[in-house]
Amino acid sequence: MSELHKFIFDGLPVRGQLVRLTDAWQDLLRRRAANTQTGPHAPPVAELLGEMSAAAVLMQGNIKFDGALILQIAGDGPVKVAVAEVQSDLRLRATASVIGAVAPGARLADLVNAHGKGRCAVTLDARQRQSGQQPYQGVVPLVDERGAPLGSLAGVIEHYMRQSEQLDTTLVLASDEQVAAGLLLQRLPVQGQTNLSQSNVAREDDDGPEDDYRRLSILTRSLKREELLGLDADTILRRLFWQDKLLRLPPLAGSQGPRFACSCSRERMAAMLRGLGQQEAESVLAEQGRIEVGCDFCGQQEQFDAVDVARLFTPVEKQPPQPGSVQ
Ligand SMILES: [Zn+2]
Repeated sequence: MSELHKFIFDGLPVRGQLVRLTDAWQDLLRRRAANTQTGPHAPPVAELLGEMSAAAVLMQGNIKFDGALILQIAGDGPVKVAVAEVQSDLRLRATASVIGAVAPGARLADLVNAHGKGRCAVTLDARQRQSGQQPYQGVVPLVDERGAPLGSLAGVIEHYMRQSEQLDTTLVLASDEQVAAGLLLQRLPVQGQTNLSQSNVAREDDDGPEDDYRRLSILTRSLKREELLGLDADTILRRLFWQDKLLRLPPLAGSQGPRFACSCSRERMAAMLRGLGQQEAESVLAEQGRIEVGCDFCGQQEQFDAVDVARLFTPVEKQPPQPGSVQ
């Protein structure tokens, strides 16, 4: 079961979250793989999307916000756009559009930053947005402060957090075909100090909370990919932070936890076909015998045959009763 764990370090201004997406991630991959038009994501693209999904859950888990957090990379390599979207109740979906070949073992820079023009954007789209109100969006390039390309998505998000939230953040991400996971550590604001200036001061000061954050950050970075993917949350937290006392919130799992969900439905696809017009729909039907509609986001496909299409364009009151319908 997919889970999100939140914790703070007792007595230290440091908080953390650990996410493990299992069924949610597998559902997402399975739906895409079943799409007869696209087939499965190439493994490097799937790995990027898994990391983005885990990161987006952690970022959503970090804020008090009613709406969608959308983590998006506009790429200038074969991946044109990669998106992970997480609602405040942790429903999630993710997709990528790819043009051209993806080399086996392609890395982040090959996928999305081939010419140094890739961008990572984080959008907060409030559920109840006033008309005319724009969603908040923060954008960072896929390079660090010195212009050097960032080699990992985790590095990109850390960079974004430093810029947007002014909070030191340590992030480790990993994904394979079964699991997408991430561990995030963040320094909490200490009254009267800004975090970034604090971190500069504290490099010369080896006592106090500053040093604790650095120590915990180093421990977090020592987590190996196989451990993050293969071990359960309790084991990971115990192994890494056995010297510290963690105050843990009840894990968010099941119907409260991260889970795959897409807003597409057969009804929405039917409405789209109605929008296409009867003539157009019937010409596709004549050519192909049926109409196949797919969701761009998750890959779900629905088929509409001649009877379905006739029904779409028949006013409801003229339709024959459905079998089993109450008369
Ligand atoms: Zn969908």
